[in-house]
Parts: sequence; structure tokens; C-alpha cells
Amino acid sequence: MSERQYKFDTLQVHAGQEPDSAVGARAVPIYQTTSFVFKDFEQAKLISSVEEFGFDYTRITNPTNEVLENRIAILEGGSGALSVASGSAATVTAILNITHAGDEIVAAKTLYGGSFNLFQNTLPKHGVHTTLVDPADPENFRKAITDKTKAIFIETIGNPDINIIDFEKVARIAEENGIPLIVDNTFGTPFLFRPFDYGANIIVHSATKYIGGHGNSIGGLIVDGGNFNWANGKFPDFTTPDSAYSGFVFWDKWGNYPGAGNIAFIIKARLHYLRDFGASLSPFNAFLLLQGLETLSFRITRQVASAQFIAEYLEKHPAVEWVSYPGLKSSPYNELAKKYLPKGPGAILSFGVKGGFEQAKKFIESLKLFSFLANVGDSKSLVVHPATVTHGQLTEAEQRLAGVKPEQIRFSIGTEDVDDLLWDIEQAFKSLS
Ligand SMILES: *Cc1c(COP(=O)(O)O)cnc(C)c1O
Repeated sequence: MSERQYKFDTLQVHAGQEPDSAVGARAVPIYQTTSFVFKDFEQAKLISSVEEFGFDYTRITNPTNEVLENRIAILEGGSGALSVASGSAATVTAILNITHAGDEIVAAKTLYGGSFNLFQNTLPKHGVHTTLVDPADPENFRKAITDKTKAIFIETIGNPDINIIDFEKVARIAEENGIPLIVDNTFGTPFLFRPFDYGANIIVHSATKYIGGHGNSIGGLIVDGGNFNWANGKFPDFTTPDSAYSGFVFWDKWGNYPGAGNIAFIIKARLHYLRDFGASLSPFNAFLLLQGLETLSFRITRQVASAQFIAEYLEKHPAVEWVSYPGLKSSPYNELAKKYLPKGPGAILSFGVKGGFEQAKKFIESLKLFSFLANVGDSKSLVVHPATVTHGQLTEAEQRLAGVKPEQIRFSIGTEDVDDLLWDIEQAFKSLS
């Protein structure tokens, strides 16, 4: 934009957008159109054959979505990004983009319930198998890698255990094995944590959560770190002629693209998986997610402070068995949190109430201000019972593997006045006795 390197609070409002060239609109216009008129035959040919970047059909590209993509790429420090219909679409698109039937993934076992199911149950039906490992010891990732492994997949802040992984160690293991590290940064957001700074290669987001921030739109983002050599021999899709696109070679064409650098991964995701699977984000949702993104740092700063306060309060409460929040000194992840998330380890915490499932149920049903639902990252405070809802589809054994317990309650702290939140928690505890 200019010779100055703008800071985060400025970039979340401006990055990736110039005032609209047609009429000078200051806000990002919603280009609610399926398709775009070609100027002439020459342009139609250039865009359709990807000789030139341009807009032709909203399943693949749209100017509103492009602002969101450019903004998140800049905030994360990546070379490019792709917007998709949901966080789940982001994860599966990133995986399919680099795997074939017969390939393997190594993932942390502490994952979002939907991702756990994708790796454990759905992808194996298509021949892609995942080894889930305990991320507490990074060496477990190394031990699970075989010559068929195509990626390591982890979350910035694990779910529902609220654990933190030693990123640099895991990134080094991925690098030593010539495979990319994919990080789901939904709970971190680029404000609290930038995975590329610690050696990650691909980021996925459920923009549904903190990026949108107001609980009104489902959306997902994939960001390319532009820092992985797809020509290292393990990813022949990038280095052999592509039969779907007149035989061009992704790595030759986009491995070092003028002005953008290495965008081969993100272009391939768009041209193969967005085009063929069609999990596109609607321009209207892209607009709403951009509205949310403008205030990300302010919301998160407030939410993190309240989460810390509430975690400390719960830890002292006689009706509470345990609290998991990396901002607590008692947390086994406190040192990792200080190193990787100095602005605060997110605003999601979980705790166990004394008396098990029945008391957890009663507590949740007694809350008045917290909403009992399956989401996180809203400006409203949310509560969920992971064993019933987010991880409810898993078998008991799978729940134990993912670290879900019957007495466990998960809070996502919103932007309300923290005194009101404490009042609500206190009155719900009173209803237990
Ligand atoms: C919600 C969530 C997802 C899935 O995102 P959707 O937008 O609901 O499809 C993936 N990862 C994490 C960490 C999430 O919280």
C-alpha cells in the first residue's frame, strides 16, 4: 500500500483493498453475481486458460472474496489465500490438494470434533489414512511418519483439551521429512499467533469463529506460507504436466510467480478443488467476515483478558474439580503459552465440575447469559458440553482418545462485561447445591 509497514490494527481494516475502481466505494462492495462479462474473445481465452488472472465465475473467483483472501494472507504473512464455504471445507481442501489414495497424514489427536471425524472416519474411505498421535511429546510425530506421509496437521490451541503444542519442534520434524506442517489457527487467529513465523507451511481457518466474530456466517480460509518446496520429489502433482489445464506444470508456473513468490499450493487448491468440488464462499458471507475482521484485535484482547479472569476464578471455586486454560500458572502448557502466545492463549477454556455428568448438565442448564450451543469465537459468551455436542458423534473410546470427559464444560468467553459473566457463573453454581 505504501512504503510504511502498517501494523496489525491498521492492516485488519485496510489490507488487500483499494477503494472500488468503478465508483470509489469505501466499504468493500458485495459483488453478488455468478459471473463476469468478458471484454472480448482474447480476454475470455486468457482468463479461462489461466494465462491471466481475472474474474469469470464466482465458484472460482470473486472480487469481494478476493479482498478477504488478500487481507488474511497479509495478516498471516503468507503468499496467498483461498476463501471457502466453511472451516471444514478449508481443512479437507488443504489435505486433498496434496494427497492421493494410499497417502498418509500424521495429526495431533487433540482436534476439533469435525476434523477428528474427517481424519478418523471419512478420509480413510477415500484411501487417505491418518495416524493420530499424542502431541505432548513432539517426537511422537516423527515416529508416526512413513514414506507415504504427506503432511503433519495440528491446531494452534487444541480442542477440547486447550493444549498447546511445541510448534518449532514439530515444524522441524516436518521440515526434516520434506513434508508440510498444516496448522488450524482458528483458536489462535493471526492476532495472537502467526504459525508461519514458527515454520508452518499452510494455515487453515474456520472464519466462522473469531474472524467473523459475530456468529452470523459460516466460512473458511486457507493460507499458503509460500515457504514449501513442492518440487522436492514427494508431490509429483506439482511437477508433472496437469491434464486438467492444457498440460501446464504448477510448480513451473507458480512456484516463483512475479510479485507473489511461491503460490503453487494455493493456486492448485483453487483450480482443482474449488473448481471441481465447489465449496465456495458466498460473496455476502465474505463481506460479513470482512466486517468482523476489522475489529478482530479489539475483540480478542478483551476476550482473552476476561478468559484469564474467569479461569482464575474457577480454579479457586470449591465446586470445580479442574480447569484447563494455558494462561493459568498451574497449566502444563503455561510455558509454551508464554513462548508462543504472549498476547494470551485465546478465550476458550474448559473445566470439570465436581459430581460428573449430572452436575455438568445442571450447571449448563442453569446459565442465563451464556448461550448453550455448538460454536466458539462469538462476541457472545458460549457454553457447550463437548461429550454430548462437539464430540458427541464419537464412540466412548474415541472420546477418551480426543481427551473428552463427562464432567467437562467448555466456555468460549465473549465481549460482555466480565462482572455480568461472573454473576451468571456464580448463580449457576448456586443452583447445584
Ligand atoms: C469450527 C471449527 C472448524 C470447522 O469450521 P466450520 O466453519 O464449522 O466448518 C475447524 N477447526 C476448528 C478449530 C473449529 O473450531
